[in-house]
Amino acid sequence: MQYKRILLKLSGEALMGNRQYGIDPDRLAEYAEEIKKVLDKGVEVAIVIGGGNIFRGLAGASRGMDRVQGDHMGMLATVINGLALQSALEEAGIQTRLQSAIQINEVAEPFIRRRAIRHLEKGRVVIFGGGTGNPYFTTDSAAVLRAIEIHADVILKGTRVDGIYTSDPEKDDKAVKFDFISFEDVLQKGLKVMDTTAFTLSQENELPIIVFDMNKKGNLLKVVNGEAIGTTVNL
Ligand code: UDP
Repeated sequence: MQYKRILLKLSGEALMGNRQYGIDPDRLAEYAEEIKKVLDKGVEVAIVIGGGNIFRGLAGASRGMDRVQGDHMGMLATVINGLALQSALEEAGIQTRLQSAIQINEVAEPFIRRRAIRHLEKGRVVIFGGGTGNPYFTTDSAAVLRAIEIHADVILKGTRVDGIYTSDPEKDDKAVKFDFISFEDVLQKGLKVMDTTAFTLSQENELPIIVFDMNKKGNLLKVVNGEAIGTTVNL
């Protein structure tokens, strides 16, 4: 395998499957199977989960809610998703730990970096919930931060499109996909990979990002095996 320790970022929306809201148990079960395939190859897997399928602070603020209050709701939403993902992984026979950036000790361990690394070394999947624990951030920033902290080799951003395009492929049929692109070119061309805070954190720490289609069976394993799937962002 090309990568020994990965940080997989899944958005909350990915968990919706074909629904408009909430969590699709079938989609979760599919993801668990995909994750199992890479674990069986001895790869260490950490996951940061989003919350956009339940609540986003920015959406609340646009309707008059206090932004910090909304962000707290968003962070709790990521813990809910983390619990759902944890169940699905355990159902598939995978050992897991959920660590939260906000204290919620009855349902999740607190985030302790050394403990997270130990879990990974023992072959457990570590799910990081609660984002960064701070309002005004996103789970993409949490993904980059945790990846750096645990010395992950790469961030794998699992999405429903198969990479980064010159424009939105769901709206523009002339959009062309990049196989490789530099951090600088992404910024220069104004392409959307992650929010700027997350993206520059990754760039400054020379942590490559691979954007790929997580909904296609076998793709995760192929990416971890170094096959040319999705788009790789690197120096
Ligand atoms: N959030 C936050 N701080 C963080 C991470 C998340 O306040 O460090 C809140 C924020 O309101 C965000 C919501 O949690 O909108 C859900 O996270 P995100 O939008 O990143 O989820 P995704 O788009 O990946 O589903």
